[in-house]
Amino acid sequence: MKIICIGRNYAGHIEELGNERPRDPVLFLKPDTSILIKKNPFIIPEFSNDVQYEVEILVKIKKIGKYIDQKFAHKYYDEIGLGIDFTARDLQQQLKEKGLPWEKAKAFDGAAVIGNFLHKSTFESVDDINFRLEKNGMTVQEGNTSLMLWKIDALIEYISKYFSLKIGDVIFTGTPSGVGQVLPDDLLTGFIEDKEVFSIKVK
Ligand code: ZN
Repeated sequence: MKIICIGRNYAGHIEELGNERPRDPVLFLKPDTSILIKKNPFIIPEFSNDVQYEVEILVKIKKIGKYIDQKFAHKYYDEIGLGIDFTARDLQQQLKEKGLPWEKAKAFDGAAVIGNFLHKSTFESVDDINFRLEKNGMTVQEGNTSLMLWKIDALIEYISKYFSLKIGDVIFTGTPSGVGQVLPDDLLTGFIEDKEVFSIKVK
């Protein structure tokens, strides 16, 4: 399986990082080795002094597809989840300045937290899902999928022009504003509506 991530999909987050609003979705990949193994803590890698959380809605692909029209995109997923796109922000900044790819900053071991999935029938609309991240019991990030610049079905159409989607692939749909640094002993807990879907200890 592969993980396809979307960058700059919420206006608030684009502003907080001082990025330009993209004309097309920004895509990058994480390998399967970046998935944080369930129940393991997240270990801050030694090559960064500023690892940040980015909480994101996830979509799990259930059917193979390429050139998927957004009208039919809903047939390609049943499950919606929540995860963290951990980012070594200091390293990403250096790479961005040099115009180099971001993988070292975003695709390292443990950099992809994938929480529990919920069936999409749980929601009235996948384009109106509330989600949030708590750090040590305080809400640090919250969002609603209605605020995405590109909604889930549009993302599937766009991604599948470039990459065939396969069963089990996971899309990270981008983070709202409020990203911030993690430190040892932090506890990160993710919620979709009021349901807890992951809880991660930082080391
Ligand atoms: Zn992200």
